[in-house]
Amino acid sequence: MSTSAATGAAVAASGVEVVEDVGPRAAVETGERSFDVAVIGAGPAGLACALNLVRGHARVLLVDSNRPRHAATLKSHGFITRDGASPLELRKLGREEFLRYPGASYQLARVTAVTSGVDDGFQLSLRAVRGGEVSSVNAKLVVVATGLSEQLPEITNLRAFYGTALHSCVVCDGYEKTDKPLVLITHTETDREAMRRTETLVRRFSSDLTVIDAGSVTEIVGERAEMRGVRLKSGEFIAASAGFVLPKSEAQLDFLAPLGLTVAKLPGGALADSHPAHSGETPIRGLYAVGEVATGRPEQLLVAAGSGAAIVPQLLLSLSI
Ligand SMILES: Cc1cc2nc3c(=O)[nH]c(=O)nc-3n(C[C@H](O)[C@H](O)[C@H](O)COP(=O)(O)OP(=O)(O)OC[C@H]3O[C@@H](n4cnc5c(N)ncnc54)[C@H](O)[C@@H]3O)c2cc1C
Repeated sequence: MSTSAATGAAVAASGVEVVEDVGPRAAVETGERSFDVAVIGAGPAGLACALNLVRGHARVLLVDSNRPRHAATLKSHGFITRDGASPLELRKLGREEFLRYPGASYQLARVTAVTSGVDDGFQLSLRAVRGGEVSSVNAKLVVVATGLSEQLPEITNLRAFYGTALHSCVVCDGYEKTDKPLVLITHTETDREAMRRTETLVRRFSSDLTVIDAGSVTEIVGERAEMRGVRLKSGEFIAASAGFVLPKSEAQLDFLAPLGLTVAKLPGGALADSHPAHSGETPIRGLYAVGEVATGRPEQLLVAAGSGAAIVPQLLLSLSI
């Protein structure tokens, strides 16, 4: 491998240029304003999409506000080769891999609006994550990979145990709860079928399970992340060292309003078509969606990453026409 002193870029044995310096290259700071593709959201879906795009010689801006759905958890499970890794570490490794390629730019910022731009492209307004500083960039194509936001049941101190003792994904975290006394906290509005499926899944891991409605709970009892049980409004105490909750989740798509897209207008809250071909196409030409925001349903890291990679051939084809 040889290195170019001017750029820090290296030419691998294959002859393909790979940048070795993985420090963040902020597009706005370097003055870059025009990209082939802007990927909004650097969770597994956006990272997998952005990585495969730069490997296809596209110039890609990856913008992320650093508020992933799994921020509450310390370990993620089930992602092959990274079982048990911290979700933050996974995201960091993903960013570093992406930034090794010449076409890659990363910006820590929140996209506040996507509007139609020049030549059938798009213009994105960016705002610094802690407010202030507004700038704009252009892209021929846009990929929305912004995930979902969760609304947990309103129970005093539930959040303090979420991601450590209480979880929402049974497949992700059930194994560590094997044979423990568990609770399943449901919402009154939870769809009955989802509730029945979750209960059946949780019972695979422990038969010591109490199912309770969130409305009957006053508080989670325990110290730090060590949960001891649940106190009900009736005064009854249910001993449990862990459990599962069914949060409500929804896409936050205010930044797409200038294009006429709102969650309410989307069938089932799904931004992209859920056709098995995973085209990621939305009702707006040139605007794609991947990961959980595409289906409107909570998924897993691997599934989100897969959907991000799956649409890349389609995007590269569009850039080639
Ligand atoms: C507590 C918890 C634990 C979990 N544990 C596991 C596990 O062990 N194993 C597993 O496989 N899955 C797990 N999951 C599920 C997993 O986290 C999700 O399936 C996955 O993160 C979805 O990926 P995504 O890329 O679609 O969205 P996300 O990972 O949510 O990423 C979306 C990104 O978009 C950014 N964003 C949002 N809006 C904007 C905007 N306007 N501008 C710029 N950026 C924006 C956010 O900051 C975020 O970084 C867990 C989830 C939770 C809540």
